[in-house]
Amino acid sequence: MRIAIYPGTFDPITNGHLDIIERASQLFDRVIVTVAVNSSKTPMFTAEERVALIKAILKQKRLTNVTVEHFSGLLVSFARKKKAAAIIRGLRAISDFEYEFQMALMNRKQANDIATVFLMPHERYTYLNSSIIREIARLHGNFKDFVHPVVVRALKKKLRR
Ligand code: ADP
Repeated sequence: MRIAIYPGTFDPITNGHLDIIERASQLFDRVIVTVAVNSSKTPMFTAEERVALIKAILKQKRLTNVTVEHFSGLLVSFARKKKAAAIIRGLRAISDFEYEFQMALMNRKQANDIATVFLMPHERYTYLNSSIIREIARLHGNFKDFVHPVVVRALKKKLRR
């Protein structure tokens, strides 16, 4: 069984992330979306909230070979524990490249047997990231074309508080 993990902050999950998840789920027997807890960023949603949002969407989309977990610590250790053959990352533009290149080579140095696999989303998502969604939501702009309805509701609820 070929297992891949797809790590990220997912604060919150966007349609760009979902595009990558769907592509990965066709390439691997099992995909574990891995929500980072110990990121240096201060998230808008707690790790539990981010996991719950992803779970709800996966259920609706009937992506039965995709699961979600949160993790803290070294990514390759988590990948090993899950017997993953690959780490999935999304590449949007040249601007992603330098950081992703560094991470991929550093992860390979830690674990030579785990490959980083880059997938490109549909071009309609190439300018999309979670921070711009949070910003538009805070400013009461229109973001419903970029995130799942579950996330639209969660963002509105969060910002009402
Ligand atoms: P991180 O904080 O690790 O960058 P993110 O949750 O922002 O985590 O992203 C996780 C992964 O998904 C990264 O590989 C990132 O490049 C990718 N990604 C983020 N947004 C998109 C998008 N719109 N299209 C494709 N990939 C994306």
